[in-house]
Amino acid sequence: MTQVREQGQRQGNPYLNVLSRPGALRFSAAAFVGRMPMSMFGLGTLLLIASVTGRYGLAGFVAAAGSVGYAVCAPQAARLADRFGQRRVLRPLTVLFAAATAGLIGSALGRAPVWAMVVTGGLAGAAMPSIGSMVRARWSALLGDSPLLHTAFALESVADETIFVIGPALVTVLATEVYPAAGVAVAMVACVTGTLLFAAQRGTEPPAGRAQPHAGAAGPLAGTAGPQAAAGPGRGGRGARLPAPGLVTLVTVPLRKPVNGEIDLSSTFGVRVDPFLHVAAMHTGLDFRGDAGDPIHATAAGTVVGAGWSGGYGRMVEIDHGNGLSTRYGHLSQIDVKVGDEIRIGQVIGRMGSTGRSTGPHLHYETRIDGDPVDPQKFLHAGARLAGASSDW
Ligand SMILES: [Zn+2]
Repeated sequence: MTQVREQGQRQGNPYLNVLSRPGALRFSAAAFVGRMPMSMFGLGTLLLIASVTGRYGLAGFVAAAGSVGYAVCAPQAARLADRFGQRRVLRPLTVLFAAATAGLIGSALGRAPVWAMVVTGGLAGAAMPSIGSMVRARWSALLGDSPLLHTAFALESVADETIFVIGPALVTVLATEVYPAAGVAVAMVACVTGTLLFAAQRGTEPPAGRAQPHAGAAGPLAGTAGPQAAAGPGRGGRGARLPAPGLVTLVTVPLRKPVNGEIDLSSTFGVRVDPFLHVAAMHTGLDFRGDAGDPIHATAAGTVVGAGWSGGYGRMVEIDHGNGLSTRYGHLSQIDVKVGDEIRIGQVIGRMGSTGRSTGPHLHYETRIDGDPVDPQKFLHAGARLAGASSDW
């Protein structure tokens, strides 16, 4: 009888249920602290360099170097952690991240040459531990095929949202009101503390040598109520489809614009007032204004893993670029590709529309790393810099 009632109470709050698993609250809490830099480091870097040098272009470039470093290296680090165990990868990575961040702060405050800031900024991004994917791997190892895994991933998505609400505000106050380097420094301390606490928890560490730790979760489109919803449990257990394993080429990093002509953004990445509910909500992508029927281009080469109706996204295409990188194109009026198609960079994949949860013709565009949404503008800025004078981009 007691047991029955207990079970009933547990079912009453699924989050408490998963967190009551042995060790779960501890690793989830450590992961929360450890991945705070996700929403703090880029902005912190921008504010630090801009306030010290007064050059916003340079500040944006250094922040972009960090984002590209992270985009290229985080999936590799996650893969290494799957093979050799999280602790053996996270510890050296954390030391490297702390050293590179200290170098970035030092070179900014010491007015070092531009290359020194770009190199340390890029290195810090490259070494930033991808705790988001590792905490989900822990949940997968802990809960297996249980339907509770969905609840655990939803919980981590709430944590991601909270981080994207708190982090940018915190880093802005620290950098502008306290000290230019304070934002980056606090992000670094949070990352090192959380990551080392996370890595120290051996009891819940997934066994090393598993090739597909994220498999078993729902498909990439499941659980996504719409573009306003947090990152669903749609994690790719999909392997990279690259000519040579481990080789990352720039055509597989989404640096290109998805639309033609001048960029006209109607909504940016981050917290905004939801146009339907009129409450603050996380917006997980960029909205490009345009006309119905405008061609939509793939922003990098890859394989179509989703092409069809997907809840609030309306008609949506999702492309897997390998190495944990994926892009989503929502609200399309027409889809020109099908699941399994190999896509070239720049290829037209559909037409702009207003399907799903949309108030007018626009493209909802997302970039994701290991299933977690990241600001597409980081890639677009980096792409614009890399392209230089090339008119193709
Ligand atoms: Zn949108």
